[in-house]
Amino acid sequence: AKSAGGNRFELADPEADARAITRHGLTTALPAALERGEFFIEYQPLVHLGDGSVRGAEALVRWLHPQHGVLGPDQFIPLAEDTGLIVPLGRWVLEESVRQARTWQARTPDGADAGPLRVNVNLSPCQLTHPGLVSDTVDILERLGLAPGALCLEVTESALIGADDDLLKPLRRLAEMGVDIALDDFGTGYSNLANLRRLPVSVLKLDRSFTQGMQRFPADPVDLKIVEGIVALAHSLDLAVTVEGVETGAQAEQLRDLGCDTAQGWYYARPGPPDRLHELALADATG
Ligand code: C2E
Ligand code: CA
Ligand code: CA
Ligand code: CA
Repeated sequence: AKSAGGNRFELADPEADARAITRHGLTTALPAALERGEFFIEYQPLVHLGDGSVRGAEALVRWLHPQHGVLGPDQFIPLAEDTGLIVPLGRWVLEESVRQARTWQARTPDGADAGPLRVNVNLSPCQLTHPGLVSDTVDILERLGLAPGALCLEVTESALIGADDDLLKPLRRLAEMGVDIALDDFGTGYSNLANLRRLPVSVLKLDRSFTQGMQRFPADPVDLKIVEGIVALAHSLDLAVTVEGVETGAQAEQLRDLGCDTAQGWYYARPGPPDRLHELALADATG
């Protein structure tokens, strides 16, 4: 960094300055990055805990920055939300993910799998309040020919806390069309459990913090009781339970025994390119 000390520091490694990742630098580079196609998506398999089959994947966006290399969503999604770029970026992620799900489905031989592969896409709170959400989603599904039931939109619990009817209306419309809505990072937002009933959600995604508590062996009995209670409540409301952050086989077994339906985590696969998801799905259909 340059100091006020004078010319002596002016030439001190200008490249280091250029390389430094600054909030301002990333923010101003975002719009051009979208136009230049610097974003890409990795897919992480969603696995059925009962039979181990791959049912679909969550789409996770990354930025291949020309100077800084691959940046994770935590480094740029908040900036895109602050600047409003999240709306076109989110639309791009949705379109790309729907196109990908369509490709997986077209390439999977009939009857060789546990139903058509599905795709989960994260929605930022800014997209929820954007008036184009429903029409954009309908347009993308129709144009690319994906059944609404093959799409799941993930909304964080915190985005829906205290949500009024205006906020829920677009989600309700999408749910009526057959799009699944998942409540993401569940358990971190202190929401009123009874409130779940009025949300148009069909899936609870248990936050990774719960799975982490299960990594110790034997797991904390209180942690187990909490997960057991959440699963019972979810199932009584007809919600499926997905667990994230499963890193070991012991965790997977325990979560299956507790009644969780679907799992996601490094134990199965890290997020990766779309073709790998397809290979994993085919491998478990034939093997
Ligand atoms: P998330 O929706 O909770 O996604 C799960 C995160 O956990 C991902 O991080 C994933 O790579 C990571 N993960 C998966 N399995 C494991 C595991 O076994 N252990 C551990 N320690 N981590 C695991 P990632 O890809 O860095 O994404 C971070 C967050 O960025 C996501 O959290 C999501 O909230 C947000 N995000 C990602 N893509 C998008 C997008 O297209 N739009 C929006 N609005 N947000 C996105
Ligand atoms: Ca998510
Ligand atoms: Ca999550
Ligand atoms: Ca999380």
